[in-house]
Amino acid sequence: MKLTNEQHDHASKKLVERQAQCPACQSGELGVGMTVVALSEFQRGGGIVRGSSAPFITVTCMRCFHTSLFSAVLAGIPADERRAAN
Ligand SMILES: [Zn+2]
Repeated sequence: MKLTNEQHDHASKKLVERQAQCPACQSGELGVGMTVVALSEFQRGGGIVRGSSAPFITVTCMRCFHTSLFSAVLAGIPADERRAAN
């Protein structure tokens, strides 16, 4: 699912407000990705648990390209929009 420009701006402003830095190189040059990604839960034996996933937005360091994940839920991406992406 793509973030709207408003959602992207909101997430970017939160990073600036918190003076976020890259955990790998401490650069403050961070960029919010334009899509919501999902992580799925693995179960023993290698299968994926159906219906068990969590939405995240990505933040990438423009200096070293380390990428971090942040909860889309806590970032304020509405649940109905997240469901539409599935
Ligand atoms: Zn970095």
